[in-house]
Parts: sequence; structure tokens; C-alpha cells
Amino acid sequence: MFFSLFQRQKTFTSCEWLEHGIHFNIDGLYHCCEYFHGGTNNFPVSNVLPNNNYDYKKFFKEKKIIRKNSRKGIISKRCIDCPHLTNKKWNKSIDNIITKIAISSFSKCNASCLYCSTSYNKKYYNSLKDIHIFDFLKKCYKNKIITADCDIEWGGGEPTIADEFDEIVNFLLDNSFPLIKVHSSGIKYSKAIERALREDKCDLIISIDSGTSELYKKIKGVDSFNKVIENIKHYQSVQNNKKYQVVLKYIILDGINDTKEDIINFFNCVIDTGVINVRCDLEMKWCLQNKNNNEKITKMFELMKFMQEYAESKNIHYAYNTQADFIIKKHKNLYEKVFM
Ligand code: SF4
Ligand code: SF4
Repeated sequence: MFFSLFQRQKTFTSCEWLEHGIHFNIDGLYHCCEYFHGGTNNFPVSNVLPNNNYDYKKFFKEKKIIRKNSRKGIISKRCIDCPHLTNKKWNKSIDNIITKIAISSFSKCNASCLYCSTSYNKKYYNSLKDIHIFDFLKKCYKNKIITADCDIEWGGGEPTIADEFDEIVNFLLDNSFPLIKVHSSGIKYSKAIERALREDKCDLIISIDSGTSELYKKIKGVDSFNKVIENIKHYQSVQNNKKYQVVLKYIILDGINDTKEDIINFFNCVIDTGVINVRCDLEMKWCLQNKNNNEKITKMFELMKFMQEYAESKNIHYAYNTQADFIIKKHKNLYEKVFM
């Protein structure tokens, strides 16, 4: 009795991904999708098998070892310094329960962004076959390995052109999953996303990074600005009660879209679509190259401050995404100097 009480009270360091996360990637299954923190995401736990499927058994075996280790105070070296590590009273059970899912089991995309990790060999990535995960998800749901409060984030490639996208989204909606986050180029209109928005169960994030057709084409590699704006307007109009589920993202790219004029053009475009939710982010490569360059970081913070103040002046809700958030946390003092 005393022993089990002690066990219940014990705190240890871990993170939601280590405990309960699964990331379906094009080269295998990973324990997390936080690329920027260089954690357990550095390598796939189980590679894609020759039959174009995943080795789920191997993944769950390793997950169990990770959970056991964190309870003994052992954390992977690749997780050190990650802000997601938390010391708290985690659930002591090491059962296979999945509460965080990231899906990028396909690499096809209808855009060709300058900053995409696949940009160096687009033809190859667009030719890869999707790895199908719907049967596995259904099985996990049936066996209560994933439950309806699971956090699901869909990236890619472009989700709307993935083979199983509509089927999976409809399955999740039919089974009352509360929220599906989708990162889309916005080029293809999706009826499944429309349904999820109508039912208040979708965060749709579209990164347009520009406010003019010319700049859009330069960054995204395709001439689809007008089509995307039209689709955004439609998505925005079908939302039910909450009007903030469609999010437009702006990734600041050094020397490409980093003038005040570029940012004002972007906000004019946001206002035209009726969207009231904006996220600012930084390019991952830029962050890795400049994370210790105080001069460049200060200049970037000044631009981010301008962006934030402009958003506030237009009553647009504004927040930061992963990379920007990381740089802010890492350079707290510089950030406070610029923003205070
Ligand atoms: S601690 Fe960070 S890097 Fe490690 S698994 Fe968690 S989120 Fe990923
Ligand atoms: S929309 Fe996303 S997946 Fe497609 S090219 Fe751009 S960054 Fe890559």
C-alpha cells in the first residue's frame, strides 16, 4: 500500500511525445516530430518495410523501453535541452496508449516551396508511394490504443492529395475526435476539411508567406495564389461558431519576404479573406544557421515586433509557431529588450 502510494506520487522527466507519441514519416516511424529540437526524431525507430508498411511491433517495443527508462531517470541524449521535457507526475503506467499523432507518411505536394525539406529533389519525393495507415488507426481505435481525445496533426506532403486523407478525416469525425490539425497548401479544396470546419473540429493552417501573386510564386514555386485565396475564403465562410479555425501562416525568409511592405501586403491579403488568425514562423535552416548570431536575431525580433503590432492594430489574433517560439525562448533577453 505504502509502496504503491509512493509510486503514484513519484515525479520524473519526460515529454508527451516520449510517453505517448507516434510520428508516421516517409522513411519510418518516429517517437516525435519536433525536428528542430533534434530529439528522438533524428532517426526512424522502425524503417519502412519492403512491403511499404511500418514495423509497428518494433516501434511499440522501443516505446516501452523509452517509458521504462524515463521512469528510471534516463532520457535520450538527443532530447537534452528540448523545452518539451517536463518534470512532473506522469502517469506511471507504461501501457501503449497513444495521445499524440503526427502524420506525414507521404511526400507528394502540389506546391514546391523554397524552404521545403524535399525541395532539393522534388521529382523523387513526388514519385514516392503513400504509406497507408488507415487500417492501423482503425485497429488501434478498436483496441483503445488511441482514444478520441488524441491530438492529431497532419502535415506532409500535401494532406489533401494523400490517398487516405478524406477517409481518415471522415472516420475521425464519425468517431467524435475533437480536433484535427491540418497543414495544407490550400491549392486543392477539400470537402473533408470543409466538413471538419463546419463541425468545429479542425485547425486548418495554410502558409502563404506573401501577399501578392508574384511573391507567392517565387516562394511556393507554383502560380496558384488566386486559387489559394479563393479556397481560403470558402473555408473561412463555412466555419460554424468559431471563426478562428483557419490560420494563415507567414514564414519569414531572409532577403525574400522580410520587408515591412511584404508584411503589410500579407495583412491586406489576410483581411481580404476574412481570416482573423495569423501565425508567424521562421525558416528552420535560418534558425539553425543563426541561432547564435545576436545581431541577426535582434533584426529578426524587430521585424517580428512590427508584425505583431500591425496585427494588433488590425484586430488580428497573432501567435508564433515552433521555430519562432524556440528562438524566442533561446534568446529571452534579446527578445525582451526589443519587445519591452
Ligand atoms: S523531449 Fe523534445 S525532442 Fe525529445 S521526444 Fe520530446 S519533444 Fe521530441
Ligand atoms: S506546402 Fe509544405 S510539403 Fe508542400 S512544398 Fe511547401 S513546405 Fe513542402
